Amino acid sequence: MTDRTTRSEALFERARAVTPGGVNSPVRAFNAVGGTPRFIASGQGAWLTDVDGNRYVDLVCSWGALLLGHAHPEVQAAIAAAVSRGTSYGTPTEPEVELAEEIVRRTPVDKVRFVSSGTEATMSAIRLARGFTGRDVVVKFAGCYHGHVDSLLAAAGSGLATFALPGTPGVPASSTALTLVLPYNDREEVAAAFAEHGDRIACVITEAAPGNMGVVSPLPGFNAYLAETCTAHGALFISDEVMTGFRASRLGQWGLDGASEGWKPDLMTFGKVMGGGLPAAAFGGRADVMAHLAPEGPVYQAGTLSGNPVATTAGLATLKLATDEVYDRISLVAETIRTAAGKALTEAGVPHVVQSAGTMFSVFFTDEQVLDFAAASSQDTAAFAAFFHAMLDRGVHLPPSAYEAWFVSSAHDDRAVQAVLDALPAAAAAAAAT
Ligand code: PMP
Repeated sequence: MTDRTTRSEALFERARAVTPGGVNSPVRAFNAVGGTPRFIASGQGAWLTDVDGNRYVDLVCSWGALLLGHAHPEVQAAIAAAVSRGTSYGTPTEPEVELAEEIVRRTPVDKVRFVSSGTEATMSAIRLARGFTGRDVVVKFAGCYHGHVDSLLAAAGSGLATFALPGTPGVPASSTALTLVLPYNDREEVAAAFAEHGDRIACVITEAAPGNMGVVSPLPGFNAYLAETCTAHGALFISDEVMTGFRASRLGQWGLDGASEGWKPDLMTFGKVMGGGLPAAAFGGRADVMAHLAPEGPVYQAGTLSGNPVATTAGLATLKLATDEVYDRISLVAETIRTAAGKALTEAGVPHVVQSAGTMFSVFFTDEQVLDFAAASSQDTAAFAAFFHAMLDRGVHLPPSAYEAWFVSSAHDDRAVQAVLDALPAAAAAAAAT
């Protein structure tokens, strides 16, 4: 049992005095589940150690970034060597060329531009799509998260194909007035939006397989339909693989649909895994579209730390180590944990649905299949909170929200997996008791 949280509590109090909510990204604060977030002192392989000395099997993996687990020795060595040469020069460097070449080899993009966060990647991809097409309207799907880009922090307007309202104070209505928010997996709504606004739509942006409302796979052919529809109307298809890229499979979600179906996104965004645990992200795509970007073309985009040599070295080391065997191990671990979670919840009589996209998965505390955000929102979040805390008490750190994917790494060995399996029945019983 992990009942010692004195130091985390003390740090949380200090943090709240100097940082809003005590955290630098909202979901870390445990607002959705209650209680004190654990302040982590170190990570090793599949395990986290908090400042009170408690150990947890990590099923967050830095929100998907750590494909190889914490402190992988070869990634650490590559980072240390890069740091010893200096941390940033503000000039082109070799590692960024090598990482760009690796991404171009492993994805359908012709060219990439590096940035420092997924938010910057989607923001820049949208600017480029607008600059390339000369159009202004952006289509997104409810429940898909693309970072905190003003125009994408949008809530669906009322009625079919109406423009969106800001989803947060601080975003002017004018920033979302050109955003259409549609229900995910709904071809008819996409067709209706294009029928009404087709010649104004610059792009459709979607998570390649949404992971930010829990994991909701695209229905068979949905991404292909989006790609075709965009092409037919002269719009660009932006596939956001910040979460799924190099994780859902070796080729991301595209490896699970586009590669075999024979279509390519016009633009893609990447982050998380490709930064190897350091701040790096990218957007890329068709050579003729990317040619519109400064300094080659007129669409402006830049960044002081973009393509940072330490971050690109970490990403390159990670991708080089991410072999088929790594994905095989991650698939096996994911399947073992999701099967056991389903079994424990069934035995405890807790309504649930387990959904996955390649190696990514999540558990919805609801009894209907989840195809869109409306269904995801029908979850019993109190049951999840009880489940979460029972797992945490038994040394398993889940994402602290019912709307998040669970992530594993190739460092999740049999001992770590067994620790998760051992914790599940009592956590399912705790969920049943709510
Ligand atoms: N797109 C997707 C699909 C994401 O999951 C995220 C982050 N969870 C982002 C964009 C934004 O990335 P960042 O947090 O690095 O800005």
